[in-house]
Amino acid sequence: MTAQTKSAPAGRDAVGAPPALTLEGVTKRYGSARGVEGMDLVVPPGELLTLIGPSGCGKSTTLRLVAGLERPDAGTITVAGRVVADTRRFVEPERRRVGLVFQDHALFPHLTVGKNVEFGLHDLRSGERRSRAGELLDLVQLAHLADRYPHELSGGEQQRVALARALAPRPAVVLLDEPFSSLDESLRAQVRRDTVATLRETGTTGVLVTHDQTEALSVGTRVVVMNNGLIEQADSPEKVFEQPSTRFVASFMGDADFLPAHVHRALLTCEIGIVSTVPGWADSDADVDVVLRPHEVALSPSADATARVSAVEYHGAFVLHHVRLASGRTLRSWQPHDVRHPVGTPVTVTVAAGTSPTLLVGDRAVTTPPGNAPRIAVAP
Ligand code: ADP
Ligand code: MG
Repeated sequence: MTAQTKSAPAGRDAVGAPPALTLEGVTKRYGSARGVEGMDLVVPPGELLTLIGPSGCGKSTTLRLVAGLERPDAGTITVAGRVVADTRRFVEPERRRVGLVFQDHALFPHLTVGKNVEFGLHDLRSGERRSRAGELLDLVQLAHLADRYPHELSGGEQQRVALARALAPRPAVVLLDEPFSSLDESLRAQVRRDTVATLRETGTTGVLVTHDQTEALSVGTRVVVMNNGLIEQADSPEKVFEQPSTRFVASFMGDADFLPAHVHRALLTCEIGIVSTVPGWADSDADVDVVLRPHEVALSPSADATARVSAVEYHGAFVLHHVRLASGRTLRSWQPHDVRHPVGTPVTVTVAAGTSPTLLVGDRAVTTPPGNAPRIAVAP
């Protein structure tokens, strides 16, 4: 053993298992259009990764490359320690140990539920196939529907069958491409909970694509935010939301407003006054943009204030107030469900105590004063 005696060998976890999935420099172009570009990602066993980004950013392309439905133009894809695609090698989809669940379920209409789940188990004898399919149907609580056909199931049941079918061959990783988006709102939350519980119960590594921010944050043990074929940030849900690394991530993951601001002697000020202190910026004199989220912005009516409420939206649990500042810039503020300051009300705008907002220089978040060597980072 060398310098890595204490930590696990590169790419392996503490018990020596290789990552469930690795992408290294993976690129896929469609003509001159970008699918994904130079993507690097390591998914350890048992992780449930959520992949989010605007339509066309390359989420499905990423899954299709891993599944073997596309060939990369460059880079290497490894599943459970085995290279399944690079410029020379290409393992067929059914030999990759990758399970797939799509939005439209894609069950075989002419096969029963039981036969659908048995489908990927051709390496087993028929008795073993039946018993493994039975185990999976038990797991998703559909054993009583084994003899039905897909058209005799509800959308939520079809989705559970699709999950059982994907899990039956014990894949190293299951890929789910917007699996809940064809379900209606009331069903979606329940099916999502059931799906996550099943993945956890079986210890299955999952990569779930979604365009829903709440889903990405609440389901993922880690969240990968993509934009235009590139990974912008891959971090815990809390970090992605509270410490976005780019302007894009700040605005895509939740509501965010941006104000020009200045840090002088560790004090962050902008049009609304003092925002916070910035530890480690004592010697700095720097222009930045400050990111403010509606839950961080406080309002109080005040006759001599220069800011005005410009719109009020009732959201049920909270009331979103839009405020126009003297400069013409706007901020948004969440107020409790029973608070409503009518349009035109002059309001003093402050930032809730304890907020340590993200600072941007250009499109990148900064934790150290621009131009300085790294010193003390902003407290996590
Ligand atoms: P997402 O799933 O994030 O919405 P996709 O991965 O489907 O995005 O697409 C990424 C980009 O690649 C888009 O610009 C899309 O138009 C393009 N693309 C995807 N599949 C094809 C294809 N088969 N032929 C040409 N362009 C494609
Ligand atoms: Mg897609």
